[in-house]
Amino acid sequence: MSPDQGAPTPAYIGVGSNLYGPEEQVERAIDALSRTPESELGARSSLYQSAPFGPVDQPDFVNAVVRLVTKLDAPTLLHQLQQIENSQGRIRGEHWGPRVIDLDLLVFGDMIVDLDDLKVPHPGIAERNFVLLPLQEIARDLVIPGLGRVVEIAVNRDEPRITLIR
Ligand code: ADP
Ligand code: MG
Repeated sequence: MSPDQGAPTPAYIGVGSNLYGPEEQVERAIDALSRTPESELGARSSLYQSAPFGPVDQPDFVNAVVRLVTKLDAPTLLHQLQQIENSQGRIRGEHWGPRVIDLDLLVFGDMIVDLDDLKVPHPGIAERNFVLLPLQEIARDLVIPGLGRVVEIAVNRDEPRITLIR
């Protein structure tokens, strides 16, 4: 599929930050997402705050999810996300570590992709309350390939520390 062909696809993108003014970083990324070529911002969630996931001692995260209706294909959209990460000063190679901005392609229509550098639906959606709660807010009835309806995916009880900021 090349850009500019066919019906637009609803894509869901997870946005997270825990460095250098996380709320502002998330807002900045959402603003940049709204300017993605061939795309329109369909909806955005509130901002949520969550305790870090994994072994590294680091500040809390601010997270949100947006719906982007796009004519881009999935790899091109991923490339756009990485450009936004780079423009906000993301340094790579900090898996599990603190990050100024993280943009994850969560869902791309009903597509399933299993490449080394692109897995869609993003693995871990079902375990991560910081993805599930904002998704429930903007896309309760979305059916995620392999997982089912968002509203029916159980929230993870081992990871309770998430609060709505605004
Ligand atoms: P994480 O978000 O899992 O902590 P990173 O953001 O550091 O990790 O990982 C980025 C890498 O993940 C990129 O090299 C990218 O190619 C790969 N990747 C695979 N699937 C996706 C996806 N659905 N969305 C974003 N990045 C993805
Ligand atoms: Mg990422």
